[in-house]
Amino acid sequence: MTAAYTGGCRCGRVRYRVDGPLRPVVACHCRECRQGSGHYWAATRAYRGDLHLERDDGLRWFDSSTAARRGFCTVCGANLFFDRHSSEGVTIGAGTLDEPTGLRLVQHIYTAEAGDYYTIADGQPQYPYTGEIPPIEEQ
Ligand SMILES: [Zn+2]
Ligand SMILES: [Zn+2]
Repeated sequence: MTAAYTGGCRCGRVRYRVDGPLRPVVACHCRECRQGSGHYWAATRAYRGDLHLERDDGLRWFDSSTAARRGFCTVCGANLFFDRHSSEGVTIGAGTLDEPTGLRLVQHIYTAEAGDYYTIADGQPQYPYTGEIPPIEEQ
């Protein structure tokens, strides 16, 4: 028995459902995430096969590198997905989930590339680079 999670973008032209577990939320402070999101990228993660797009007419994929692509809404600009081709999971922007999520932000990664205009002060572990990313599992 796994809970189904739902979410989508601001304008509703991208809607998704996750039929399976999600990972706790990880905040990535790397330069790529900061440029893509406008700040740092706080995200959960689902197994690829559990993520179903219920509406995707606004969705567009951008090849952010040769290894990964980012999915965003062309109408409202929402930053929804990060999809590393070699990975078993798809990363999902935590702010796009419908609430209550039941999730917690548990760590900060790539703090070596964090912006110079804020302080990370929530007491969660901080890693200069990748850290010990938690697994996708029932919350
Ligand atoms: Zn949208
Ligand atoms: Zn990042």
